[in-house]
Formats: sequence, C-alpha cells, structure tokens
Amino acid sequence: MMSQRLFGTNGVRGVVNDFMDPQLALDVGRAIGTFMKGKVALATDCRTSADMIRSAVAAGLTSVGCDVLDLGPLPTPALQYHVKVSEISGGVMVTASHNPPEFNGIKAVDADGTEMHRSKEELIEGIYFARAFAQKDWKGVGAVQPTSGAMDQYQRAVLSLVDLGVIRKAKLRVVLDCANGAGSLCSPTLLQRMGANAITLNCNPEGTFPGHPSEPVEENLGDLVSLVKESGADMGIAQDGDADRAIFIDDKGRYVYGDRSLAVVAAAIVAESGGGVVVTPVSTSQCVEDAVRAAGGEVIYTRVGAPIVARRMMEIGAVFGGEENGGLIFPRHQYCRDAAMSMAKMLEIVAVEGSLSSLLRKVPSYHLDKRKLRCPDERKEQVLRQVCEAFASNRVDTTDGVKVYFDGGWTLIRPSGTEPIFRIYSEGKDRATAKKIADRCERLVKEILEG
Ligand code: MG
Repeated sequence: MMSQRLFGTNGVRGVVNDFMDPQLALDVGRAIGTFMKGKVALATDCRTSADMIRSAVAAGLTSVGCDVLDLGPLPTPALQYHVKVSEISGGVMVTASHNPPEFNGIKAVDADGTEMHRSKEELIEGIYFARAFAQKDWKGVGAVQPTSGAMDQYQRAVLSLVDLGVIRKAKLRVVLDCANGAGSLCSPTLLQRMGANAITLNCNPEGTFPGHPSEPVEENLGDLVSLVKESGADMGIAQDGDADRAIFIDDKGRYVYGDRSLAVVAAAIVAESGGGVVVTPVSTSQCVEDAVRAAGGEVIYTRVGAPIVARRMMEIGAVFGGEENGGLIFPRHQYCRDAAMSMAKMLEIVAVEGSLSSLLRKVPSYHLDKRKLRCPDERKEQVLRQVCEAFASNRVDTTDGVKVYFDGGWTLIRPSGTEPIFRIYSEGKDRATAKKIADRCERLVKEILEG
C-alpha cells in the first residue's frame, strides 16, 4: 500500500480556506515542529493569506515546544539562506510560488537550508496522519520572536559573490518585473546596490498579483518585453512569486527560454572555474550540455526536481546546476534555486563578456516538441519497459522515465505522478526533426498500449 502523501513536489499546496485552511496549517505546523524540535525560522511570500497561514503554522510549531523566529515576508531563498547560516533546526516557508493568488502552501526547509529530503517529508507525513504531535503542557510551549536582518544578510551574501566593481562600471540598464511577489522586497534594492539603471515593473508586493500571473512564462511577460524594447535596456528580468526562479529578456527584447539562460550562466561558471560538473534534469535541452562542453566542463543528468538536482550537486561537488524553468543553483551561495543570485550573476556575466544577445548566439538552438499521451497508471511500467526493448540499439537513459537518443535529437517519455498520462518531450535541431522523433515515439507507445 502506498503511504498517504501530504507534501507534493513543492510542499503542501492548495486553495486558501478550501484545502489550505487554518486547521491544516496548524496541524502541518504541529507535525513539522514535532519532527524538527528547537528553533524554527518562519517566513512568507506576499499573498493575501500570508498572515493567516503564518499565524496558524506558528501556533502549531509553538504548541509542540518550538521557538519560532518570525522573519516576516521574504523571498524563499532568503529564508533558506537564513536557516543555512543560523544554528537552528530548520525553517518553514509559507508560499505557493507561482500558483494563482487563491493558493497558498507550506514548505519545510532542512537545517542546512536545503529543501527537505523526501525521506524526511515522509516522517513528517507519518506524524501528521497519525496525529502523533508532541503537544506540550503550558510550561513547554514555545514563543514567537520577531526577527529582523535576514534580508540584509541575504543581500550582502549575494553581492559578495559577484564582481561589484565590474558590474557598477558597466552601468547596465535593466527592467525588473517581480510579478508583485516577494522579489519586490529584495531585487530592486539589489539592482540599486549594483549601480544598475533600473526600471521596475510590478515591483510593489501585492497578494492579488494585479500585474500578471506570477509564472514567468512568455505569455505573462508582454509588458516586460515591450518595456525592454522601448527603453533600449541591456536585459529584462522576471521572477516568480517567491523569487526562487528568474527568466531573462535579452537586449533585443526577446524572451529567453530557461534552458538557454541556464546554458549561458553554466558556460560562464565552468569557464571561470577551469572546468567542472554542471547538474541538470534529463528534461533539459541539449544546448546546456553543448555550452558546458565547449567551456571545458561536463554535464550530469538527474531525475526532474530542484531538490534532487541540489542533492546531487552537493554529493559530487558540482560547480553549478539548475532547471529549464529558470531555477538556477549556485553552490558557493547555497544549494537551492535563487532568483536574486541568478540576476546578480547574469549582470556580472553581461558586464564582463558583452550583451546577452551575443552570448546567446553562441548557444546552439534546438526545437522542443511537448505532448501528452493517455495511459492507465497500472500500464505505465510495462509500456516503458517495452519502449526500452524497442530502442535496444539506441543510447537509452532511464534516470527518469525513458530518454532515447537519436541522430540529431532525443525523446523523453515520463509518466506523470498525478495523472494517467505520459509526458513526451522530444528535441531536435529543428521543428521537423523534433516532430519526426515525437511522432515515432508516440506511434510506438500507442502500438504498445493497443497490444
Ligand atoms: Mg518559486
């Protein structure tokens, strides 16, 4: 029997006062506190329900004897950095990242500032479902201590890892769009401290996200693209709601897909490190491996998921890692995705090496074909096995689903964990190649399903 799950890939999430109500937040707080014990840092993004959920989580944590350091509203990576550099048991972030404003969520952060490992989440889930809370009597309940300084500490850490002299001298013109999220509290100040000539857009924290939905995908960033073009900016930067992911617009006003900005930063870091390993999930474009190899490094692939990428980076001492959705991980800073660090590093790279568009010209381009295909959950394993057999003479990677390499491209067939579907990603040098590869794989899966 599968154990009951509470945490999804990004913590516990749901619609406020539907699934994500104060009772749930209270009990999740009690379960996390029972597991963590001691001092726990707590922060929120800027959603309308932040105070409500934070108060309930704090009540849960203190009821089981934890002392809560209330850091107030912060980007997720700023909370993570505070946990990393403090002698405390862990942290809790109240955020639903890029989800619509009616959502909120709760995410547990381990004592080293990384996202909680799945095995520890399972222990917390066990406590939650068994209601095995370490409830204290009146003498044992914890206190909530409002704690200041986390933001400044985080900003100083980010600035310490880039060449401020070079960046300030370049006087870059930057348009920043924080999607009215938690990045608004941090990144405009950082740009100022880097001497950038900044234009801000949607940089007032506002829990209804009036500017645009907080996922930094192309269709949400029309205003940012226009403003970059009109102002002749060196780049545009968009962050998601809790400011762990950053997406860029180049100096020609073109939206840069996350794997291409990942490739630019990866190549720069590998070059300045004199080689090294970059870690990324199997779903990432070949352009990252091409760029990293050209710079003298190598790529190691993992299953999809930022915590998995971060763990592997720690294990092997990678110089850099990240995902195609704009989540970049800088190990000298911390082992989690960080939009402010991504922004500062990109400013440095452009200040040193030249325009973003010229850097992108060096990154090979590929076309990605994305599809979904229905498949009953109970047949997924068998289908994947037969796909492997059918491509026995190809190079096959089974790190996450099945990835098959072809001449001039690859396809990745991944079972969804939540729906009876396969996601089929196929990449080729051009649209026709990607489509050909995708058609071939889709046909094969259908044939297997029809037996
Ligand atoms: Mg996020």
